[in-house]
Parts: sequence; C-alpha cells; structure tokens
Amino acid sequence: MKHLAEYKEIIHSCSKCGLCQSVCPIYKITGNDCTVSRGHFIMLRGLIKGDLKMSPKINRYLDLCLKCGACSKFCPVGIDVVNIIAAAKAEYFKTHPMEKFFSFIQKNFIFGLGINVLKIFSHNRKSKKFDKKVLYFGGCSGTVKGSHAVVKLLNACNIEVVTPKFKCCGIPFFVRGDIQNYEKYKKSCLDIVKKYGINEIVTTCASCEKTVKNFDNEIVVKNIFDYIKESNIKLKLRKKCRVTFHKPCNIDNFEAIKWILNNTENLEYIEMKDFDGCCGMNGITKFQEYKIMLKIFESKHKNILATKAKTVLTSCLGCEAALNFYSLGKYKVEDFTEFLGKNI
Ligand code: SF4
Ligand code: SF4
Repeated sequence: MKHLAEYKEIIHSCSKCGLCQSVCPIYKITGNDCTVSRGHFIMLRGLIKGDLKMSPKINRYLDLCLKCGACSKFCPVGIDVVNIIAAAKAEYFKTHPMEKFFSFIQKNFIFGLGINVLKIFSHNRKSKKFDKKVLYFGGCSGTVKGSHAVVKLLNACNIEVVTPKFKCCGIPFFVRGDIQNYEKYKKSCLDIVKKYGINEIVTTCASCEKTVKNFDNEIVVKNIFDYIKESNIKLKLRKKCRVTFHKPCNIDNFEAIKWILNNTENLEYIEMKDFDGCCGMNGITKFQEYKIMLKIFESKHKNILATKAKTVLTSCLGCEAALNFYSLGKYKVEDFTEFLGKNI
C-alpha cells in the first residue's frame, strides 16, 4: 500500500474537468466540490505540498466518499480514486488516536465477538464432489449465513465448493485508513488460499469481491452469479415472486445478475428507477452524515415502492443492512444468493 505522497504525480494529473461530478452519488446530493474527486484532489495536493494540514474537516470529506470507484471509470485520466482516498485516510488514522480506538472496537467487538455469536445460527451444507473446485470466501456475511445456498447453487452448476474459515476481507479497516489491520486480513486470506492450493475464489458479497480481487492478480475472484450465468442453468422458484434489485456500487458485472433475474422461472423482476443509485450505507455508519444519507435513501425508498415489489434483492452485506434499516417494514430485503438458495 503506497503512502499519500507517492500519489503526487497522479493527483497532479487531474485536469479538473469535473466529469466525476456527473456520476458521484454524493456530489449529486451535496453539490459541494469538496465531496467529489476533483475537490478531494485539490485538498490532497495542498496536503502534499504542506499548504494544508490534515484535519477532521478534510477527513469528513474523505469519509463521505463511498469508495465506489464510479468516478474512476468515468475519469478521462483514469485516476485510481479509491486507493488514493485510502492512502489519505491512512494519514489521518496515524495521527488521530480516536480513529485507532474505533478500529479496535470494530475489530474486537463487531468483527470478533459479534460475528462469533451470530455464527451459532449459521447454516452450512456439505458440497458434492465435481471436477472443478472453488473456494468460498464468505466474509462476515458468509460466516453468519453459512454456506448452504452457495453450495446448493454451485453444485447445481457442477462445481465443488470448499468452505475454509476465511475471516473478514478487511474492507472496513481499509476505508478507515487502518492499513495495518487491513494487511493482516489480506495476509490471512492469502495464507488460506495457499494452504488449499485452489486458485479460484467465489464470493456472494460485492464488497468482498472487489476487495479480494485486489489481493493478488494470480487469484481468480468471481461472483457466484458469474458461475450461474456461465453454466447456463435454468433456475425455477417454487412459488411466484415479484422482486426488484438494488445494484451495489461494488458490483462489476451486473449482466450476470440481470441474466438470472430475467431467466429464472416464476421470478418477476421489476427494474427500479436508479437501481444502481447509492443505498445510503454511510448514513448508518456515520451518524453525523445522517441528513445527507437520508436524502439518498428517500429517493431509493420511493423508487422501491413504485415497483410494488415486496422483496428487494441485493448482493452486498452493507447495502442489505442499509436497505433493511430504512425499509420501515414496507418490504423485505434479502441477499440474492440466500433468496435463490431458499426458494429453488
Ligand atoms: S474526472 Fe478525473 S480528471 Fe476530471 S476532475 Fe474528476 S478526477 Fe479530475
Ligand atoms: S469513489 Fe464514488 S463516492 Fe467517491 S468521489 Fe468517486 S463517485 Fe464519488
């Protein structure tokens, strides 16, 4: 992981064209340049030059960034925004003890004790043996929910699933700037891959997928939906169900998900307006930004209700938590893999 100063040239290459503003879900709400890449880079340039000092105010603007990478895909210079913001967050993390305290709580109580308690309710299934083998990286979501649905779906695609005890992918620490703990989780994942000697990982959570993809170029990381589409199997729900889908910002290949939504018998898929708009997860983790995130969610909630679907599917633990939090009991929010596993 590079230090912020090492990104100096890349940060300087920002042409300030402002194209990032047109895709940034946060800028769309705030209209404030400090909350989008162009403004971030002006601040970071000042920090590197020494004209500015890292402060809680700058950190707040960095925290508002969802690290979704939408602006990078649109940026004519192709600037890797997510890693630059993480490097800037690491500078803040080093000098602010409260950040270390929150990271300690996160590591030991949320991803330690909390996950271990929830694990008691998880539901696992033994995989059948096939020629092709993949490792299932469940992350926190898989640790809690178990491997039942993943094994059932992938076995139907003629794929054997090995389910080692992976820990968190480390993304909560990466976005906080706690690079030391992020590197520990990364190492733990790579050690397990090496131990099993299987170079292909399947994930069900978009955020895990994006994070693990960056660990090592030699490892193939795919979402479960890619395997289902590739195998061309025809899924059938036991009962008719109308659903809509929230696309997490970390999903790279939505085509596979859309293919399953449109090709599963008894599944009526209604595309919501702005299906790929932000879920507002930042509002749950950062209460001080609740007002901004509430605006994001109000529009999502309205778009969901307009579909008249009683089930909202998604494939990211963070999005699932956010949508559930704000649903007000008007619809059920489910992980797409779990939904398929339960209903086929
Ligand atoms: S799109 Fe890229 S080059 Fe243009 S302002 Fe944004 S970060 Fe800078
Ligand atoms: S990564 Fe996402 S939230 Fe952050 S500046 Fe880019 S588009 Fe906006």
